[in-house]
Amino acid sequence: MIPVIDEKECTGCGTCIEICPPGAITLADGKARIAEDLCEECGFCAPECPVEAIKIPFPIKGP
Ligand code: SF4
Ligand code: SF4
Repeated sequence: MIPVIDEKECTGCGTCIEICPPGAITLADGKARIAEDLCEECGFCAPECPVEAIKIPFPIKGP
């Protein structure tokens, strides 16, 4: 299970791309897209999104 990007909210700012440890997020048509095979399900991206466009459907790991 990977985070869900709300494409209506995503502004394509790139903040989540910089924060994602394995580099699983890219921009596609100006919207963030998560590569399911690369995502480690850490949940770090969601709180970094300035418009709360990333929804985490699993418990976020601790530090
Ligand atoms: S959950 Fe972690 S690995 Fe997956 S896209 Fe977000 S920051 Fe990257
Ligand atoms: S941080 Fe949020 S608004 Fe910015 S690219 Fe990622 S999902 Fe989109």
